[in-house]
Amino acid sequence: MLLEIKGLRVFYDKLEAVHGIDLHVDDGELITVIGSNGAGKTSTLNAISGIVDHTGEIWFDGKRIDNMSAAEIASAGIIQVPEGRRIFPQLSVMENLRMGAYLEKDKKKIAERLERSFSLFPVLGERKNQRGDSLSGGEQQMLATARALMAGPKLLMMDEPSLGLSPIACQRVEDRCVDINTEGLAILLIEQNAMMGLRISSRAYVFEKGEIALEGKSSDLAAMDEVKKAYLGV
Ligand code: ATP
Repeated sequence: MLLEIKGLRVFYDKLEAVHGIDLHVDDGELITVIGSNGAGKTSTLNAISGIVDHTGEIWFDGKRIDNMSAAEIASAGIIQVPEGRRIFPQLSVMENLRMGAYLEKDKKKIAERLERSFSLFPVLGERKNQRGDSLSGGEQQMLATARALMAGPKLLMMDEPSLGLSPIACQRVEDRCVDINTEGLAILLIEQNAMMGLRISSRAYVFEKGEIALEGKSSDLAAMDEVKKAYLGV
């Protein structure tokens, strides 16, 4: 097992937003988390990344990480692409990408990862000297994803990558998630586009009010009436 979470609770001061969830990601899996607004999905990713108060156990790659700092968790190989992309707007595409590899000292690895970024997302190569904020929403999502990959993660956590994108840009996000996963990288994906999230993942978790209401094979969940009604709009 690559990531194992046991009894995770997340707190904002005294308010408990996530109420003791269990979740796991196996090596090479693409796992989707769906659920309505405020269900605790982002809080869970932020707890894994070590940036919000939490209790419970989080194990990654054989090590307990729930008491580690955010920097140590990133070094251990968990990299999050935050909701809203958060690229550096004044920096160029190239500078944004290099920032993603700030922990890597090996110049050859950095060059290889840059090359991979440009082969996964050719438009980033074409625009490598342009400022981050000159890119479209879909391109900024590509940049945020490529920047995360520059760190050489063992687990990529993506928070609503398709939010606010056109259907074509959503499709590109979906295709690249699948490509990256097919190369062997495990992905934990929060997706408001539940249809897409369930289509590309092997397993999924449905969050409701800070708890996991349902979990299982994505194809099984997509066939359930309660999931169809609540999340798939059918
Ligand atoms: P969304 O899709 O809206 O991001 P979510 O499932 O990711 O939803 P969270 O953002 O994790 O949900 O929010 C879970 C709960 O925690 C909500 O009730 C939310 O209001 C609360 N919450 C989130 N961030 C904070 C914060 N910084 N301070 C206080 N409460 C917060």
